[in-house]
Parts: sequence; structure tokens; C-alpha cells
Amino acid sequence: MEYLKEVEVKSVHDFIQVKMGKRSRAIVVGGPVIVGCGPSGLAAAACLKQKGIPSLILERSDCIASMWQLKTYDRLRLHLPKRFCQLPLMPFPQNYPSYPTKQQFLAYLKAYAHNFDIKPALNKTVVSAKFDHRCGCWRVKTRGLKKEETEYVTQWLIVATGENAEEIVPQIEGMSEFEGPILHTSSYKSGSMFRGKNVLVVGCGNSGMEVCLDLCNHNAHPSLVVRDTVHILPQQMFGKSTFSLSMSLLKWFPIRLVDKFLLLMSHLILGDTARFGLNRPQIGPLEFKNLYGKTPVLDVGTLAHIKGGKIKVCRGIKQLAKHKVEFVDGKTEKVDVIILATGYKSNVSTWLKVGSDMFCAKDGLPPNGWKGEDGIYAVGFTKRGLLGVSIDAEKIAEDIQQCWKAVKTTRTC
Ligand SMILES: Cc1cc2nc3c(=O)[nH]c(=O)nc-3n(C[C@H](O)[C@H](O)[C@H](O)COP(=O)(O)OP(=O)(O)OC[C@H]3O[C@@H](n4cnc5c(N)ncnc54)[C@H](O)[C@@H]3O)c2cc1C
Repeated sequence: MEYLKEVEVKSVHDFIQVKMGKRSRAIVVGGPVIVGCGPSGLAAAACLKQKGIPSLILERSDCIASMWQLKTYDRLRLHLPKRFCQLPLMPFPQNYPSYPTKQQFLAYLKAYAHNFDIKPALNKTVVSAKFDHRCGCWRVKTRGLKKEETEYVTQWLIVATGENAEEIVPQIEGMSEFEGPILHTSSYKSGSMFRGKNVLVVGCGNSGMEVCLDLCNHNAHPSLVVRDTVHILPQQMFGKSTFSLSMSLLKWFPIRLVDKFLLLMSHLILGDTARFGLNRPQIGPLEFKNLYGKTPVLDVGTLAHIKGGKIKVCRGIKQLAKHKVEFVDGKTEKVDVIILATGYKSNVSTWLKVGSDMFCAKDGLPPNGWKGEDGIYAVGFTKRGLLGVSIDAEKIAEDIQQCWKAVKTTRTC
């Protein structure tokens, strides 16, 4: 790897080290450094490679696509049709179904990495990244398994750590009193462990709804806590995926009209969800997603169990006790297990150190979603799932290529 040059450099950025006269190891990376080896990191590396630009991926886990490998449940399939989920330059195998299983998606990602010869540096958690104005480069620090630190110096930093890097765990009154297990959906694999148990599922997004369905299929007794309003849409309409139908309609009609159509069809296919305790927001599903980033739930069969009474819908939690939960409406339930389907958040603000004048977006990420100043880029942060990942990765590779050509020409001169 000629583009990686390991050098002993005097650390000029770390006052204490300089003062103590210590030297630290730094690796100068000739191409971009990509943080995170999920679909976003892989797509960015592949697009760069296709343009002849080498890159280095730093990944905190011991495998690629760690969210998909380690933090998802067994019955998971892609929520969106495959043509919206494939990465650039390599389509899914033709024999894949419209909604590939998690295992199929993982096999595809592994083949993708192999095809583009992507070999990430694993077990490298990025703990800080800072632009050094003196050398015009990013200094990216990682911590390894034995707490060893390494610094990478690069002209281009690509943030690909995902919108789902860390679990959101809410604080619920009485949580410490509760005597049963409390787990996040990231640790949930299958309902087979919960046969016959009363399971409280907190959160009504795609994961919460699907976990309830899985629990029903394994003869557990789920109750679903629904605190906020939620849009539930059928996964298919007229034999077409609701997502692709929406995308087609948006090319011709304004978003509000498309939303009206989606709501009408949902009413005809699913009925009035408010009758079952699932109230809809005032704003339509696509506009709601644009404004608040909250994806509508695509029903894969859960609603039928709610209608049939196998899944109870409950209001917000007031407090927990040893083996029971009390809801805000005063009702109580006996509970054996709690599953938090409360979502994820990004971790970028914990390690990316940027001056407030550099970026105005929250998290320090570029306000336009993919490109910031001083050679920083982001892939997969525009709340458009894998479709957004592909678009970002292609744009980033194009942009870096311009710079790369210029640098090469200067060097030749
Ligand atoms: C249950 C579930 C189902 C989903 N289904 C779909 C779907 O059908 N279609 C769709 O488009 N989207 C879906 N999504 C959204 C999905 O998360 C993304 O589309 C996709 O995984 C994004 O890829 P990513 O690489 O940006 O993030 P991730 O897949 O989260 O990968 C980020 C990587 O960065 C690493 N990382 C994080 N922090 C650090 C650090 N500090 N240092 C080094 N490495 C770090 C992580 O370990 C991880 O490997 C789903 C999400 C969930 C939770």
C-alpha cells in the first residue's frame, strides 16, 4: 500500500506531548480516509477505486457492515425494494427476491467488498478527527483493541459512520426496579426466546412493529407502546411497492397531492388505523418524513395482529415496577420482558471536532449533506437510506477526482 506512509512525526498538535518531548506514530494516507465500513463506507471506497483513487477505511468493529451483521434480527428483510438498495457499480444478483433477506444483503455486501478489493482496517475506533490548519490536513485518531492509539493524516475525510451508530435508550421511571430483562432491538434476534412471555415493545417504528409480529409468530404476548402519532402504509399498492409508486408519482405531482393519494389508499387497504390506537400525524407521510425525518411504517402484517387483538396497543409509560408497567392512562399490565424499539442516533458529534464557523449543520456535518469545507465529506446522512448512500458516494468520488487530478498534475510538474 504505497499510499500509506508510516512516519515518525513530532506531534505538533498535541501540546502535552510536545511539552513532554514524546513522539507519536502517524500514518500519512495518500488518498481519502473513510470512517465506517457499512454500506456507505463500502460504496464510497468502490466509487473512488473505480476512479483510480485509493482510500483507507477505519472500522470500529471486527467485520464489515457491523450493523447488519451484529445488530439486526433474524427475520429482517430490506424494507424497500432491491432496486432502491443496491450500491453503485454492482447490482444485486438477478435471482434475489424484490425484498432481499438480511442474509442475502450481507452476502451481497461481502461480495461487493471482495469485488472492489476493499480491505478495511478493523478494530479501529475513531476517537477524534480534527482539521490541522497548519498542514492543511485532517488528523484522525483511532483507538485499537488494546487501547493503542494511531493517528492518520489525510487531505480528505469521509464520514460514513451512519445515522444509526448508537442505540437510543430512554430513561423510564422505575427502570431500575423492573426485574425482567430490558433489551434494545439491536440485541433482539428472534421471538423464540420469549415464547409464552408478556413482552412490552416500546416504540412504533418499522423495527417495533416487526418485532411485535415476530413475537406473535413465536407465541409470545406483545404489547406495543405508542406514544406519538404514526403513519402506517401498506408495503404494496396495486402489486407495486408503495415506495416506488410514491417515487414515480412525485415526478409528476406535488408532495401534498401524493400524500393525499397515499392516505386514501392506506385507508382503503388498512382501514382507519386510529380505531386501533394508531393516530396519524396531521401532515401527510412524505411531507412528515421531509420535515421531521420520521419514516412511515410499512406494514408487513403486524396490523392484522393488532386488529385481531394479538398485539395490544398501549399509551405512553408512566412508570415501571418489579413485574409490571403503569401507563399514562392509569392502566397497568404484567410484563416479563421489555424491548426498546426506540431507535438510533449518530455518534459524529462525539469524535468530529470542527470549529462552529466551519459548518452550520448540527453534528458538524456538511449542511448540504455530503460536502463541507477543507476536504470533509459525509455519506449516508440525508435520511434517504441506501438510495441516499449511493447518490452521496458517487458525488463524493466525482468531487475528489477533480482535486486528485489537480494534485497529480502539480506533483508531476
Ligand atoms: C433494522 C433496520 C433495517 C433497515 N432497513 C433498511 C432498508 O431496507 N433500506 C434502507 O435503505 N435502509 C435501511 N435501514 C437503514 C440502514 O441503517 C442504512 O440504510 C444503512 O445501513 C446505512 O449504512 P451506513 O454505512 O451509512 O451505516 P451503518 O450500516 O450503520 O454503518 C456504519 C459503520 O460505521 C462504524 N462506525 C461507527 N462509529 C465509528 C467510529 N467512531 N469509528 C469507526 N467506525 C465507526 C459502525 O461500526 C458501522 O460498521 C435499516 C436500518 C435498520 C436499523
